[in-house]
Formats: sequence, structure tokens, C-alpha cells
Amino acid sequence: MILNLQHIYKDYMQGKMEVHILKDISLSVDKGEYLAIMGPSGSGKTTLMNLIGCLDKPTSGTYFLNGKDVLACTDNELSDMRLYNIGFVFQSFNLLPKQSALENVCLPLVYAGVPKKERIERAKQALERVGLGERIDFKPTQLSGGQQQRVAIARAIVNQPAILLADEPTGALDSSSGTQVMDLFQKLNDEGMTIIMITHDADIAAHAKRLAIIRDGILTEKEDEPDEKTFEDHH
Ligand code: ADP
Ligand code: MG
Repeated sequence: MILNLQHIYKDYMQGKMEVHILKDISLSVDKGEYLAIMGPSGSGKTTLMNLIGCLDKPTSGTYFLNGKDVLACTDNELSDMRLYNIGFVFQSFNLLPKQSALENVCLPLVYAGVPKKERIERAKQALERVGLGERIDFKPTQLSGGQQQRVAIARAIVNQPAILLADEPTGALDSSSGTQVMDLFQKLNDEGMTIIMITHDADIAAHAKRLAIIRDGILTEKEDEPDEKTFEDHH
């Protein structure tokens, strides 16, 4: 088991009110799984992603990632967890605009202290895996949205993370670029990558092998649910 969340709650203060955002979420994911977490805007998707990605801690519950107790980690240990265990993909790509595709993909390896020659070699391989071997010297502005997202995916996988964690990865893309990104996720999952993808879009979620629904901070597995429609999103 790569990820095990048990009885996770997350509360936020909104003014003087304590609001329960995530309510008793339990979720376990094995190596090689491809899970979509689907829910409407405001249901707690990004809050849950931030917890899974070790960017934030829950108010209560337990979380083990790759055998490690995340809640017992110091801040330094948490940033190492993120660096080595999680590959993040965001809706808005989050590439450095003045750096080439190769330099963007090298960045996690810089943080991991990988020597320069090996960095370049591994970043080139990651860009080849996402079909951008011919574009390594291009800057983000010289690439289409779909290509930029593939650079971001290369950056996410270059440290061989335990989980690829994507929050609305196709949210900023036209449908044909979105399909390319879904094809790429399928290929990476076929090669053994564990993927957790967060989306409000049922057509995108349908690409995953397993589906969970979050609504008002409560997570349920798809087999317990009636048919879902695409949720409205108001970004
Ligand atoms: P989603 O990604 O599904 O749209 P979020 O996880 O971003 O939903 O937000 C879920 C709820 O938590 C929303 O009602 C939002 O207003 C609230 N929320 C998120 N972050 C904070 C915060 N830092 N402080 C207070 N409330 C928050
Ligand atoms: Mg969100």
C-alpha cells in the first residue's frame, strides 16, 4: 500500500466559525492504481490534494505515505516526502517562464542534489517519455498549452515519485490537448506509475480505473454511488 488515510478531518476557521471541510475521509491506494477523485467546486478536492501531497496537515486522523507516518514528520521531512514521493501536476502548469523545458524538468533534481550531467540525462529521458524530446530547448511561451502540461508532467515524474498527483490537469486545456494528456497518463499508468487525479469532469474521471466522489467533504467510492453528471466548476 502506498497511501493510507484513515479518519481524516480538516477544519478551517472562517472568521470566528470553525468549518469542517473534510469529514472522516479514509482512503487507501496501492502501487499501480489509477484513481480519480471527482467532486463539484468547493467540495474539498484541493484541500484533500494538499493533504495527500504533504503540503498541509489534517486536523485529525492518520496518514501513512510509502510506510511513513506523515503527521509525525517535521517540516524538513515533509519537504523530502514531497520531493521524493509526490509528483505534482497543476491546472495552470506552474512552469518557470524564463527557463527552457529542460531546465524546468531539471529543477526537482537540483533540489535532490543530483549532479548536473545526470540531471540533464534524466530530464531529457523524462521529456522523451512525454513525447517532447524534440522540444527540450523551448521556453514555455514557445509551447502550446498541451505541450506545457506535458513538460509539467515530465517535471513531476523525473524523480520517480511514488505517486503522480494531478489537480484538474486538463482544466486549462482544449479538448484535444486534454485527450493527449489523458493518453499520456494512461501510458504512464501502464508503465507502473500510481496516479491520483482530481477533477470535476466526469469524462476526464472516466479515464481512471477507480473512481471516488467527494461531496461536502465526504468521500465515497463510485460503486456505492448512482451515476454522476459532470460537476459545474466556477474557477
Ligand atoms: P475544491 O477544490 O473542491 O473546489 P477546496 O478544497 O478548494 O474545494 O475548498 C473547499 C472548501 O474549503 C471551500 O468552501 C473553501 O472556501 C474552504 N477553504 C479552502 N481553503 C480554506 C482556508 N485556507 N481557510 C478557510 N476556508 C478554506
Ligand atoms: Mg480545487
